[in-house]
Amino acid sequence: MTALIPGEIAPPARLLMGPGPISAYPSVLRAMGAPLVGQYDPFMTATMAETQELYRQVWSTANEATLLVDGTSRAGIEAAMVSLIRPGERVLVPVFGRFGHLLAEVAERAMAEVHTIETAWGQVFAPSVIEEAIRRVKPAMLAIVQGDTSTTMNQPLAELGEICAKHGVLFYTDATASLGGNPFEADAWGLDAATAGLQKCLGGPSGSSPITLSERAVEVITSRKRIEAGIRDEDDPDAADFVRSNYFDLGMILDYWGPRRLNHHTEATSMLYAARECARLILAEGREAVIARHQLAGRAMLAGVVAMGLEVFGDVAHKMSNVVAVEIPEGVPGDAARAAMLTDYGIEIGTSFGPLHGRVWRIGTMGYNARRDAVLTTLAALESTLGRFGFAVAPGAGVAAASEILGQA
Ligand SMILES: *Cc1c(COP(=O)(O)O)cnc(C)c1O
Repeated sequence: MTALIPGEIAPPARLLMGPGPISAYPSVLRAMGAPLVGQYDPFMTATMAETQELYRQVWSTANEATLLVDGTSRAGIEAAMVSLIRPGERVLVPVFGRFGHLLAEVAERAMAEVHTIETAWGQVFAPSVIEEAIRRVKPAMLAIVQGDTSTTMNQPLAELGEICAKHGVLFYTDATASLGGNPFEADAWGLDAATAGLQKCLGGPSGSSPITLSERAVEVITSRKRIEAGIRDEDDPDAADFVRSNYFDLGMILDYWGPRRLNHHTEATSMLYAARECARLILAEGREAVIARHQLAGRAMLAGVVAMGLEVFGDVAHKMSNVVAVEIPEGVPGDAARAAMLTDYGIEIGTSFGPLHGRVWRIGTMGYNARRDAVLTTLAALESTLGRFGFAVAPGAGVAAASEILGQA
């Protein structure tokens, strides 16, 4: 028997227009092919420091503790939760979609006493509703998603920081889906912790999680008891306090990224290069300009699907700029139509989860793909695919409506 040796990896050409992951910027992929250096090479430590400075600008913060957690977005979520929450502390999670449930689950695993409030999918919370819950629950932390891709909603955060500060609550948000394509102001909004991932508006592959921590958050983290050697005795009063993870212990990760450079993990060099390039691209184009580009592409996609006679799910006034949820028309088989988009046009659009499964498709315009040709090509392909499955669309209606918003090329 001879083993079958496959050829070099050769992925098909795809235009990723779902809710993430998206097609990465070409220069991000090039950055990932750059040569490796050693962990303490001066180039490596300088690149880590440079990347921290770039992400301070992306997050709009002066937080010294701005760094990357190695792993996908949930690595950042998990690091924030296990490092900031002491077992038994109360955490309030307002849930408006799938990722709210994820925050609640991760907090539960961090041994928090988790309290949730829920709103209907397709809606966001009024600040007064969150404040009322804070008064009732008296949590140590408010954990809330900014943009929940499962519903496309963008929860306003600007007023929550003041509420949290007034009640002595740590304010954490998961901005994975929204950062880069929607306004975000870590300092002005009073955030203590925020985490993200690269595979949405930042325009990279998944696998690195930018995180920023306020001084107050760093104080909480550094006040946790450390395990110096081995596991502590169950009867030890300090046993309840130490962070129940080595990999996600932000105290140790901060010591690695900080001036002490204490060895923890081996920083994922190629992902560091990717994360650096994602941030560099945003700042080179201009943070506001990138947000405006996402808003324009998102408005064009929205106008296009509406002009095709499709209905949009949720409170559109609170939609993220970078993704739209479209009701699958009566009689059109949602999964078969998505498969046809992929095989006939090489375009991926998203399915959905939970209560929306089989009911809506999610179409994203993020990062590199928040672009005129990507929007128009997707609308043209969708029109033809809908026609094939028996949903007649006025020829060219979607592309015409989107073109009107996008203006002259
Ligand atoms: C997409 C998304 C994630 C993804 O997490 P991964 O671990 O990178 O898969 C997390 N949170 C939100 C709000 C998202 O939209």
